[in-house]
Amino acid sequence: MLDIAKIRADFPILHREIHGQPLVYLDNAATTQKPQCVIDALTHYYQDENANIHRGVHYLSMEATRLYEHAREKVKNFIHAASVEEIIFVRGTTEAINLVAQSFVRSQVTKGDEILITAMEHHANIVPWQFVCEQTGAVLKVLPIDQQGNLLVEQLAAYLTPRTKICAITHIANAIGTVNPIKAIIAECHAAGVPVLIDGAQAIAHTPVDVQALDCDFYAFSGHKLLGPTGIGVLYGKKALLAAMPPYQGGGDMIRTVSFEKTTFNVLPHKFEAGTPNIAGAIGLGVAIDYLQCIGLTAINAYEQQLLRYATASILEIPGVRLLGTAHEKASILAFVMQSAHPHDIGTILDQHGIAIRAGHHCAMPLMAFFNVPASARISVSFYNTFAEIDCAMEALSEVNKIFA
Ligand code: PLP
Repeated sequence: MLDIAKIRADFPILHREIHGQPLVYLDNAATTQKPQCVIDALTHYYQDENANIHRGVHYLSMEATRLYEHAREKVKNFIHAASVEEIIFVRGTTEAINLVAQSFVRSQVTKGDEILITAMEHHANIVPWQFVCEQTGAVLKVLPIDQQGNLLVEQLAAYLTPRTKICAITHIANAIGTVNPIKAIIAECHAAGVPVLIDGAQAIAHTPVDVQALDCDFYAFSGHKLLGPTGIGVLYGKKALLAAMPPYQGGGDMIRTVSFEKTTFNVLPHKFEAGTPNIAGAIGLGVAIDYLQCIGLTAINAYEQQLLRYATASILEIPGVRLLGTAHEKASILAFVMQSAHPHDIGTILDQHGIAIRAGHHCAMPLMAFFNVPASARISVSFYNTFAEIDCAMEALSEVNKIFA
């Protein structure tokens, strides 16, 4: 059992008022709020520890380096990677996927090769592959979904051909909440000799992740969806793959020696971290991971599932609501449209009540086209949300119906 009142006390922003009403923050899939310990870690770093890393002989530089590398160790333990060399700090999921697309895939594919994604991907797991296709003549293949938003996994075998160079798939779909059976998918891809990248942006704060048990080749996530700061994220990659990949960006820190004739590169993971990284962000992410682990992802998941069930049952009592995404296994994301109002109107009316939800295409325009809607409204809950907040949102949705009746 989670002590929600105690947890909420850790998040200062949850005590804010918006338009004179207590904030009800239900936009957690876009970004999560930050506990005081993460905010303090950032302040503390800039106030007392700030220095550039990896190249200083002075005390502060060595301390900042130690903190930054300690954060990497925390990430490694959090996702059960085999070594810190497999943990690359990046800006976020988007940069992680672009890195794999350009460094791992682009150099291997030729005209007619195939890149496999699914119909429920975020633009961050579509557009980088389209770049590679344009650059090389490769073809983007899309594994379809059914009307409930389940991936048609039984069709995977038919989509894996001798020309498939990578399968890039989301762990949890941001726009509809589907949880994909990634372990089985990875095994099937590997049996066909296809490496797999998992977009873990929506999963990392909601379910325990063990990259070795999953046996994924790459796993990408963003710190800001995990109670951490913006501008920091992680690319996990199997060491053998990362070691064979060319650097993604050139600059300081990623080199061993530079002359005008030739440059040699640093060891992993530094080979992929050109320039001064987001040092404070990495440290803040490490603290966010500590905080989350103290509460426990298994308990978090169980509570969020209760909230999801409650919210799903409640929203279906509101006339004119159509849920988008009712997959067999779902995370705490509720996407919907209403007969009476456009999603932007829904979002605006809820905002007047201090309720933050998402309205739009959720960076998943092909998925919106599949459901034949221009946009949708989305409630996404986190473990600091309450049943009372769900009630609040439902009352406001009933009011949307009254206003537009
Ligand atoms: N993938 C998924 C499934 C997401 O939900 C998001 C963000 O919403 C991203 C990728 C991109 O994450 P970021 O903008 O933090 O790079």
